[in-house]
Amino acid sequence: MAEHLASIFGTEKDRVNCPFYFKIGACRHGDRCSRLHNRPTISPTLLLSNMYQRPDMITPGVDPQGNPIDPKKIQEHFEDFFEDLFEELDKHGEIESLNICDNLADHMVGNVYVQFKEEEQAASALRSLQGRFYSGKPILADFSPVTDFREATCRQFEENSCNRGGYCNFMHVKQIGRELKKKLFGRYRRSLRFSRSRSRSVSPQRRRERDERHRGDYQDHRDRGDYHGSGRRSTDRSTDRRDRHDSNRDRRRRTSSPIREGSEERRARIEQWNREKEENP
Ligand SMILES: [Zn+2]
Ligand SMILES: [Zn+2]
Repeated sequence: MAEHLASIFGTEKDRVNCPFYFKIGACRHGDRCSRLHNRPTISPTLLLSNMYQRPDMITPGVDPQGNPIDPKKIQEHFEDFFEDLFEELDKHGEIESLNICDNLADHMVGNVYVQFKEEEQAASALRSLQGRFYSGKPILADFSPVTDFREATCRQFEENSCNRGGYCNFMHVKQIGRELKKKLFGRYRRSLRFSRSRSRSVSPQRRRERDERHRGDYQDHRDRGDYHGSGRRSTDRSTDRRDRHDSNRDRRRRTSSPIREGSEERRARIEQWNREKEENP
């Protein structure tokens, strides 16, 4: 019995825990929920609450003045945000997934979930985000219990058939275009094989143990010396890597995507991150 209790403690099987908080990392009852929201003290996943401010915030597809917005512009606005954030978070380590909610309910609107490969990377990102602002709004970041996004996302939404719309309690993850996905996540290609074979829904403890076992398989690309540019690698990804090192050294010199507009605007926003940090220590 005690063993059984120990095995369910902190999981959704434990009836005192809120299944929504456990699975989705957000519950519409917030702090007033009658069940427990077990906030993890460490996790590979961070939640940045309500961070993405969509241009059609009041009514989907329509600007605050009531004029319809071209869906292409909405997507561009989103992809600019996604790229901006990705580059910022990538400084702390390899991003396993970056999911931004398209939901409209208060507890989920604009929620950003970033899962790093390692808990320490998430901890580093959290430290750097605390007290910072983005587009004039304070960033509310915390560790999240969500590590299995397949459990957290709405399958109907993926099939375009969710009739709960923006008020669904499961994640409606907004997608980026294939080109941007390749540009951002392509830099991790070496490790893709491993992350695909990684089975889902394992406890952090078990994952750690398994990671220990597999460490030998993928030690080289996680080697920090390499990450910071020892330059000993000369694969077809060397260009990608160089870009990344440059961007780490001096973000303003970064050549951002020539494909889409708004890179000037984005650069201005990136500078704003830091300026605001200095003004709001
Ligand atoms: Zn709850
Ligand atoms: Zn749904």
